[in-house]
Amino acid sequence: MTSPLLPTYARADISFEKGEGPWLFGRDGERYLDFGAGIAVNALGHAHPHLVKALTDQAAKLWHTSNLFQIPEGERLARRLVENTFADVVFFSNSGAEANEAAIKMARKYHSAKGHPERFRIVTFEGAFHGRTLATIAAGGQAKYLEGFGPKVEGFDQVPFGDLDALKSAIGPETAALMIEPIQGEGGIRLAPNAFIRALRDIADAHGLLLIFDEIQTGVGRTGRLFAYEWTGVTPDIMSVAKGIGGGFPLGACLATAEAAQGMTVGTHGTTFGGNPLAMAVGNAVLDVILEPGFLERVERMGLLLKQRLAELMDRHPGVISEVRGQGLMMGLRTHVPNTEFIAAARRNRIILIGAGDNVARLLPPLIVTEADIAEAMKRLDAACTDIEAELDRVARQGAAE
Ligand SMILES: *Cc1c(COP(=O)(O)O)cnc(C)c1O
Repeated sequence: MTSPLLPTYARADISFEKGEGPWLFGRDGERYLDFGAGIAVNALGHAHPHLVKALTDQAAKLWHTSNLFQIPEGERLARRLVENTFADVVFFSNSGAEANEAAIKMARKYHSAKGHPERFRIVTFEGAFHGRTLATIAAGGQAKYLEGFGPKVEGFDQVPFGDLDALKSAIGPETAALMIEPIQGEGGIRLAPNAFIRALRDIADAHGLLLIFDEIQTGVGRTGRLFAYEWTGVTPDIMSVAKGIGGGFPLGACLATAEAAQGMTVGTHGTTFGGNPLAMAVGNAVLDVILEPGFLERVERMGLLLKQRLAELMDRHPGVISEVRGQGLMMGLRTHVPNTEFIAAARRNRIILIGAGDNVARLLPPLIVTEADIAEAMKRLDAACTDIEAELDRVARQGAAE
């Protein structure tokens, strides 16, 4: 039977019935170790008791009122985000792309409000991923996402990731902002060196540009700090957040300084669903756990342990894995075989990984993983590597025999 779903995804032939912590229970009766966390979304794993309680308590009271009224749960979540970051104000959305749309509109409006409506262009970086709306595919600049969707939204200039000279020559009188992921996620866990991020801050200041960090994947504890910019020694003017902040409930946010947000006055932007009481209750519950003393230190520790174990895995299987990279619990394995084959072999050994650009398999476990979970993951990845080696051997022998 053909599926009535729009076939825009090549889905794996597996579905899940329930989840518990880092585990997913397939309808095939198998238990899978989830090192994808719904693409860095299930920050606290599956069915975390505190999140389940927050969601069900709120569900029994009030789901949605619209933003025409006060939403105290949202005031509280925004205040907590402000208190724990560089930001002064927060706009809540339902997704990452919408958070980036808010960031892009805010940067353009800032210059317009200061009397420079001609400054609307944003410099972005090759390999970037900022979402799938018309503006965010233009920001991401990837041909495969732009192809066939009409003229690319005007106002995005792309330069190679890490190339300061190219960046400087891309800046002109119409430039409004620079936009970057501190670690490219979909692009293949590519880290922007801290010196490069600091140089972006200097260049932005020198030219009166706003600096936008897309922390949709790197944020909310993923790298062992609440946000990845905390490792760099600089702060952005605008930052987009999503994925982990809802722990699995659709939620995004655009954070900004009061200065950067000055153009966003009454009526300039909006959303029907964004920031509704249900989403805000869950977002607050996620922060309850992540802001507990010691939680982020533990994430950092588990990240270091995972990195060490992955380096050992690469030493044991140099014919399969070519590189380990990442920070905290945002790790990537570059493989000699196609990453899709590696991920399929991992899945046959009941561990979920996620593909990315540059032939990388991403490991994005829930932030609650334990040492025992990491040890279990290594057993399964070892077995997956051994399966691939056996297959490579078989193909080589067959080739020799012919
Ligand atoms: C996932 C992601 C987005 C898009 O988020 P959606 O919720 O899918 O719209 C944007 N930027 C980055 C860095 C992401 O990882």
